Amino acid sequence: MVADTMDTNLSGLAEQRLISDPATIQSAGWLDDAWSQLERMIAAGRLPHGLLLHGRLGAPMTALLETLARRLICEAPRDGWPCGECPACRQAEQGSFPDLHRLADDPDHRDIPVDAIRTLIDGAFITRYGRMRLVLIERIERLNRASGNALLKLLEEPPESMQFLCTVEQVDRLLPTIRSRLQRVRLREPRPEELAAWWRQASGCSPERAELLAFIDDPTLVDGTDPTFDWQAVTSAWVQLAEEPRSPLAPIAPWLATPRPVLARWLLRLWPAVARRQTGLADTLPAAIVPMIERLARAHDSERWLEVQTRLIQFAREAGHPLHPELSVEQLALDLVDPRLARRLEPIG
Ligand SMILES: [Zn+2]
Repeated sequence: MVADTMDTNLSGLAEQRLISDPATIQSAGWLDDAWSQLERMIAAGRLPHGLLLHGRLGAPMTALLETLARRLICEAPRDGWPCGECPACRQAEQGSFPDLHRLADDPDHRDIPVDAIRTLIDGAFITRYGRMRLVLIERIERLNRASGNALLKLLEEPPESMQFLCTVEQVDRLLPTIRSRLQRVRLREPRPEELAAWWRQASGCSPERAELLAFIDDPTLVDGTDPTFDWQAVTSAWVQLAEEPRSPLAPIAPWLATPRPVLARWLLRLWPAVARRQTGLADTLPAAIVPMIERLARAHDSERWLEVQTRLIQFAREAGHPLHPELSVEQLALDLVDPRLARRLEPIG
């Protein structure tokens, strides 16, 4: 009966597919060093029970994480890659591998709530398949103090055969107590053309689309389908805001409809491109985005570059703050119209 209750609780965690496509990983040249390092650890039986993959989040990182997880549970790896045919591989492919406990990234929330860790811990102590229990935590810097402390106990005294695979992008945001329990493997930053080549291979899309996906760099995008936010509407809103500063709250509906961390990341992605356009520095931008970048460059005073940048960074920092999401987006719009205003405001949170 206990097992039945657990199954219900875990349905959201355990029923997740682990896709493994060695060709995709092999096509991502910037992952080579990290993969070789991991392979050497596995071959020598020295993979730490708490592993932290540190690098840019997104589809390539997810592919690496899932392929590594598959490699560990596979019963007959071939040349260091999961076989794809053994019972464990088949279950993982279908999303029914029973000893997988995964906290996937959630763009709407900065924090991992303590309840999620408690559910994970409850489930992780029940072994159903037998060989290895996998705990995957994506963007582990989302842990707050309470959920971090709950996880710490498990990391300090893990059950036998429990393997933690975690990903992190902003390692300085990770609680030091958690960080000290994990061994870090650093992934190199991909160059834009490497990322575009990866998208062509992974999703079979056109070179133009691959270039656009590489630029958008949406960390929650897992395949070549549309990004999870309406980047065109969000960008147009900024153009309108900059060109018609008298009514700053009129165009920002698309901003309010976008999770704030996603919005912050995107605005910070666009702004350096605007600055390069203003200063005439060479830049290779996807054609679909050039007109909007040019309008933003024309509408902004280049002398205020740093003020806008500072305000966007401040917005990114407060993006996960649970209070007044609308107010914080509206305040951003007002400040971008007059960045000098931002300096007179107390930082939020
Ligand atoms: Zn296998």
